[in-house]
Amino acid sequence: MSHSFHLYQLQKIDTQLDQGAARILEIKTNIDGDRRVQDAQTLVDESLAGLKAAQAQLTKIEQETAAKRMKLEQSESSLYGGKVKIPKELQDLQHEVSSLKRIISGLEDQQLEAMMKVEEDQAKCESAGKHLVRIQGESASDHAVLAGENGMLAALMERLQIERAAIVNQVDSVFLEEYARLRKNKRGVAVATLSEDTCSACGSLITAAERQIARSPTQVSHCPSCGRFLYGG
Ligand SMILES: [Zn+2]
Repeated sequence: MSHSFHLYQLQKIDTQLDQGAARILEIKTNIDGDRRVQDAQTLVDESLAGLKAAQAQLTKIEQETAAKRMKLEQSESSLYGGKVKIPKELQDLQHEVSSLKRIISGLEDQQLEAMMKVEEDQAKCESAGKHLVRIQGESASDHAVLAGENGMLAALMERLQIERAAIVNQVDSVFLEEYARLRKNKRGVAVATLSEDTCSACGSLITAAERQIARSPTQVSHCPSCGRFLYGG
């Protein structure tokens, strides 16, 4: 087999290895960058914190209401108990009773609002929890698919490396060095093929004489325009 053919084979393998490495990197970036579960967990944490605050607010209002009710009971029992006889004191007690009733009524409104807020936050927590479970499932399944692809790519690349080593053994080191240099300088493509009568890499027209050299099994030819190895098949 000609050097030209081996270089062409080498290029095919290296292109596949490049694509495999790029995909493996992309898979890693996708898995590492997947913030879905963390975001859903943050939502759960935030809604739990909101519920806790709403429950604390409700408890505070309930305690305040209970304290005012107790005070009202005491004032009413003094008012109607018959022990207080001085008109001024009775009047003060009456004022106190009606003032406490107003305050309690206001607190009851607040309590109702606080209860509604607790219910609302409980619903939010429940929905955030369900969302988290669903996202965990989706993410795990997506990652499993990616891990499977990663495993297949790794195995393919291992096989390609073995093939590559076998080909490298058959190519002169002078050509290998030039190949490596071209790969480095020509965006990974060191070997172009003939695409009808043009270079597949740079699109330049290749003359009939040059095409003949490119197709020769004994010669190694280059694209006169981009300088890449030119393989004519
Ligand atoms: Zn070219």
